[in-house]
Amino acid sequence: MLNVPPQAFPAPASQQRVAADSRAKVPLKPGRSLMDWIRLTKSGKDLTGLKGRLIEVTEDELAKHNKKEDCWICIRGFVYNVTPYMEYHPGGEDELMKAAGSDGTDLFDQVHRWVNYESMLKECLVGRMAVKPIAAPKGMLPEKKVLGASAKGLTPSYDWFQTDSLITVVIYTKQKDVNAELVIVDCQDKQLRGEIIMDDHSYLVEVDLDHAVQEDLAVNIAEKVGKVEIILKKKDNIHWKMLGRPLESHNTLIKRTGRGLFYRKCKLVSKTEVTHDTKLFCLMLPKSTHLSVPTGQHVYLKQIIAGTEVVKPYTPVLPFLPLDFKEPSCHGGAHVYLMIKIYSCGLFTQALDHLQIGDYISVSSPEGNFKKSQVQTSEDLFLLAAGTGFTPMVKLLNFALTEVSCLRTVKLIFFNKTEDDILWRSQLEQLALKDERFEVQFVLSQPTKDWVGKHGKISSSLLCEFVKRSRKDSKVLICICGPTPFTEQGVQYLKDLGYSQEEIHAFSA
Ligand code: FAD
Ligand code: NAP
Repeated sequence: MLNVPPQAFPAPASQQRVAADSRAKVPLKPGRSLMDWIRLTKSGKDLTGLKGRLIEVTEDELAKHNKKEDCWICIRGFVYNVTPYMEYHPGGEDELMKAAGSDGTDLFDQVHRWVNYESMLKECLVGRMAVKPIAAPKGMLPEKKVLGASAKGLTPSYDWFQTDSLITVVIYTKQKDVNAELVIVDCQDKQLRGEIIMDDHSYLVEVDLDHAVQEDLAVNIAEKVGKVEIILKKKDNIHWKMLGRPLESHNTLIKRTGRGLFYRKCKLVSKTEVTHDTKLFCLMLPKSTHLSVPTGQHVYLKQIIAGTEVVKPYTPVLPFLPLDFKEPSCHGGAHVYLMIKIYSCGLFTQALDHLQIGDYISVSSPEGNFKKSQVQTSEDLFLLAAGTGFTPMVKLLNFALTEVSCLRTVKLIFFNKTEDDILWRSQLEQLALKDERFEVQFVLSQPTKDWVGKHGKISSSLLCEFVKRSRKDSKVLICICGPTPFTEQGVQYLKDLGYSQEEIHAFSA
């Protein structure tokens, strides 16, 4: 059981309270943290007002509950009485009220589809929406399939074949330039899940295999023709009559946002100190998983805390900066490295810090809207990071300095409170010495009197000096990441300085 202090921290209206949740738009009242909510849901209090009964809700009934003091919301066909949750919502009551008395699924998916509302709101469940009979034209397929069919010819297809010892599933994506980052394969308990990312769509092969397979699998990708082979090793060398039983989402092409997050359990193999409060966690993917997290994307970690599933996003980094990057000495399977700041009152990071080497944690597939192509044509790359907002910059730096030939300058301006908080300072300084295109500047908001570098907070004057184009018309990309208010202010300053929306990428959830 976690030892989570019950007091209201940070102080009401303090900066931390506003920033405690990266999605927070409003300060939460004291006693309204996520942990307080979890406690309330475990208190046995009747949060729906229905004394544990589940009902079928009609659209008319749903629409009646559209006030702050009586608010129901439908998400994916399930109706929740969110009235008691109002004051706990990190995005504020007004955001929640946007979906009051209606179907909030789209809104929810846009803002935070990763939040595990089923677990968070399970005590608020009122029931299911009553299904209206739809007079579908004969032969019409459910929405999932129609989407695929509308792009007929471009919809991927799959096939399979076998030898004495192997099963090979072949996916014909019908698109060029399929690379390893676009193929996510998992095989757990005989369930094979192969996902191909196609821009904002996802194609899925999902079957309950006919027979058991060995743990390790291989994935071959013929990039030019878009063919993906998933090679499974049979456990017993018997002839399979079929590949297996199709699962619910098998052979569908739908928008990525329409798929639930998929998690696999990863083993913690090492935990090393980066600074006094930040650690580098190395997680090992199962042998039966093929996944690599693209530059600029994040994953979600999931833990059960006080009986409730809690999910938080983290941005994988490399084990080192490109300076002397070597494959780590961990064996067997791919690794995900996460640089995580442990907050003394942090709900999730405290639980993470208590994980022991060898423990398992659930890691989602990657998400995020950053595209490498944004950097590929840039001549000047400016990175503005605050605190752990440095994490997306790690892979970005590696990619820019090793793979983007047209880049002339790569500058990182890194905001921290004190010198002790600077992540990978010496690696960054060494990288600047090694690669003349790269420059780093540290800015401290709470320096000691010995600090001779820049001090202060993000400001227009600081940025004006820092983000100067190397040539009058050079192509620029500016990436920014840190606490939400830092990022929002930074973007505003950059716009005021004349940079366009296309030249700025702000990392967010
Ligand atoms: P919470 O319980 O949510 O917060 C409570 C406590 O944390 C507060 O009491 C406060 O003391 C402290 N706290 C939280 N935020 C701040 C802040 N900005 N300043 C001061 N105190 C604060 N974090 C990483 O460490 N590494 C990453 O790679 C990373 N990637 C992220 C990627 C995305 C897309 C996003 C949106 C966030 C990312 N975060 C990352 C932040 C992470 O998701 C959590 O918000 C963070 O770990 C805090 O979680 P917690 O539950 O421990 O804290
Ligand atoms: P921190 O140590 O609290 O702050 C780092 C620096 O940012 C400090 O100099 C701090 O100055 C400054 N700062 C903080 N809030 C500010 C504000 N409102 N306006 C201007 N400057 C501000 O940071 P942290 O604890 O590491 O937090 C990092 C944040 O980055 C978290 O919120 C995390 O969610 C976010 N993050 C986001 C992503 C993503 O992809 N979206 C990835 C990683 C991390 P002060 O001394 O004045 O506080």
